[in-house]
Amino acid sequence: MTLADPSVTTPLEASGRAVAAPAIPFFNYRGAFAAREEEFIAIIRDVLRRGAFIQQSDLAEFEEAFARFLGVKYAFGVGNATDGLIISFKAAGLAAGDEVIFPSHTMVASPAAVAHVGGVPIPVDCGPDHLLDPSAVAAAVTERTRAIMPVQLNGRTCDMDALGEIAERHNLLIIEDAAQALGSKFRGRYAGTFGVAAAFSFYPAKILGCFGDGGAVVTNDDEIARRVSLLRDHGRNEHGEVEFWGFNSRLDNMQAAILHAQFRNYEDIVSRRRSIARLYDELLSDVPQVSLPPGPDSDHDHFDVFQNYEIEADWREELRSFLSSKGVGTIVQWGGTPVHKFKRLGFDVLLPETERVFERCLMLPLNMMLKDDEVRRVAALIREFYRARD
Ligand SMILES: *Cc1c(COP(=O)(O)O)cnc(C)c1O
Repeated sequence: MTLADPSVTTPLEASGRAVAAPAIPFFNYRGAFAAREEEFIAIIRDVLRRGAFIQQSDLAEFEEAFARFLGVKYAFGVGNATDGLIISFKAAGLAAGDEVIFPSHTMVASPAAVAHVGGVPIPVDCGPDHLLDPSAVAAAVTERTRAIMPVQLNGRTCDMDALGEIAERHNLLIIEDAAQALGSKFRGRYAGTFGVAAAFSFYPAKILGCFGDGGAVVTNDDEIARRVSLLRDHGRNEHGEVEFWGFNSRLDNMQAAILHAQFRNYEDIVSRRRSIARLYDELLSDVPQVSLPPGPDSDHDHFDVFQNYEIEADWREELRSFLSSKGVGTIVQWGGTPVHKFKRLGFDVLLPETERVFERCLMLPLNMMLKDDEVRRVAALIREFYRARD
């Protein structure tokens, strides 16, 4: 994923003197630790002193809190969300040759999970909100379709009524890629709770991020839950007997302890992210050259957590360079390439809306280190850029 720190440097004036405004990086990896350094060190010390490394109480307690938050029966920590998806598809019984419909505007991890289980990932177009378009899904269903994988992108949940209806009509499974959507809701229901299973990511730049890789699988299905819990640990049951081939994909106990500490004020985190999005919305909604994502209060069906703030912009590349020259870091998601454009993966399909979006999309900084004044500065620079082009 292109979440590498873009290492924005402070621009220099012609005189060589640093300009007054400090840089606004896209994401500040060091800041995520610095914000609560003493607390995190205390947690790490405690876990290490107990020698509690793998599948210990900290993991169990985090899993319980995670399941309770989402209102699901089971949550299992896994190595990362990609593994979580692989394990979910395996646990749900995806078989060789089964087709799974997914949106091309996603990380390659989503279809990779299907391919690793022997399935055939079928990319389709996104809609105006950049998420899986239900009409594109309906059009892609064949006799071999077994599942739909909605990707709850940018912290927004797909129209799960429409997708649920298609799934029901064709007797398809829903497995959600909720890597970006912890706490996001559609019609009051959390992302990750609509299908038979879902995967979440705790990659450091995700809203709930750990200090390394981490993920979770959630489900309400007893049988799938049992398979997930065994699949992540070599297929071993509680007596140490191996029931089937499994993986080693466990969430480290220390990471779970760190995650649990941050999860305790998750609702405050979400509310801060929504207030940053609201501010961008106020400051940029009248700029005709950009289209913004739906605002946090724009409709009653969606509760978005703004994992990303992905706009569309005229002169996207020029805007990006301009912002960079002013010390503002931005990212084009997935390095600018939707999955179906990776020809060597064997895709040969035209997805016009996704391709249009990828000529224009840009993610602005939105993170917990960002101050309101910095949001104002980013917005002012965007306005300045377009004024100069008029
Ligand atoms: C981050 C992400 C993943 C992969 O998560 P990992 O925990 O890094 O495996 C999958 N899908 C989407 C949409 C993501 O954003």
